[in-house]
Amino acid sequence: MKKQIAVLAGDGIGPEITDGAIKVLCAVAKKYHHTFTFEQLPIGGDAIDRFGEPLPKHTVERCLASDSVLLGAVGGPKWDGLGDGKRPESGLLAIRKAMGLYSNIRPAKLWKSLSDASPLKLPLAKKGIEIIVVRELTGGIYFGKRGSYYDDANGETAWDTEQYSVREIERITKIACELALKRSKKMISVDKANVLESSRLWRKTVHAYAEKHYPAVTVCDMLVDNCAMQIVKNPAQFDILLTSNMFGDILSDEAAQVTGSIGMLASSSLGDSSCGLYEPIHGSAPDIAGTDTANPIATVLSCAMMLRDSFGLTEESNAIEHAVERVLEEGYRTADLDGGIKKVGCREMAQLISERI
Ligand code: NAD
Repeated sequence: MKKQIAVLAGDGIGPEITDGAIKVLCAVAKKYHHTFTFEQLPIGGDAIDRFGEPLPKHTVERCLASDSVLLGAVGGPKWDGLGDGKRPESGLLAIRKAMGLYSNIRPAKLWKSLSDASPLKLPLAKKGIEIIVVRELTGGIYFGKRGSYYDDANGETAWDTEQYSVREIERITKIACELALKRSKKMISVDKANVLESSRLWRKTVHAYAEKHYPAVTVCDMLVDNCAMQIVKNPAQFDILLTSNMFGDILSDEAAQVTGSIGMLASSSLGDSSCGLYEPIHGSAPDIAGTDTANPIATVLSCAMMLRDSFGLTEESNAIEHAVERVLEEGYRTADLDGGIKKVGCREMAQLISERI
């Protein structure tokens, strides 16, 4: 199989972790006789520095012409002072929008060999954690109208708006229901319907759509504040967790940490075509950039999702997951992961995984 992969390395640890992931993809290509070609393209702060904008038109055009997109991370203190729409993060929001990627799937799994790396008490961690966060990605408050104004009575005031349409809620509900059918057939939809009008529409629409099209799926509701608590109190109760853009952003970071480290969590972003965008859920980690201490596993596992969900290469995808499992079982750990017997850097971790493909 021949596939063209656009690589948006971005900022901070982005280049280190995408280099590691490419090494693993090359090992897969070699073993299974595929040809993967990689095209490096600018995004985020790197694109601002070189081209004056966070998402050059050329990057969008090349991503749309590719079979899939691998992204590192964007952002950093260097660009924090820039205004709305000019910051590195707006490049990320814009590429998701340009590619029509409305669903973001973030599996938070506690690997057996990492149960000692979870901050939860061992009996709780041993019950197992595998939460699939299904996050709506192109709507809600991150894309709503915003602004700021000044008046003499209150000084500076800023506002953002959360907005969802039935169409947006239905299409992400479909994705979550499809996943639920393949798993426990249970789904928890998270909102803030006791306060927000947009959440009341979310709740009503999720139930109506699931009951009509997926009667085999049981849908329960949970308020976001309770959900934040339940993820640390009893994470084993969750399987599919469906939620909005901002709630999914926050809850998936929390779910990541209970599974050991944010450096372990992959994600896929898909729309109606098979060309998806695959990225770790963490950011650019400017505090450790350039030190070869980043954990590349989230990015490597994002490539496993790419092989399965965009290219239909299930065996190759499983090969990556098994290679990661073996490296962890053998006791190798990057600095963010507690336990283990041998600390390794980003480059060595990627090398160890590729050798076990
Ligand atoms: P972050 O995820 O970059 O880092 C949070 C903490 O986790 C840091 O201590 C970091 O060192 C650690 N960490 C993250 N990834 C790691 C990895 N692979 N291995 C080891 N440790 C890792 O979040 P932040 O510090 O809040 O944000 C830093 C920058 O990243 C900001 O500019 C933010 O806007 C941006 N950001 C980008 C994305 C993205 O590109 N998708 C997502 C979140 C944040």
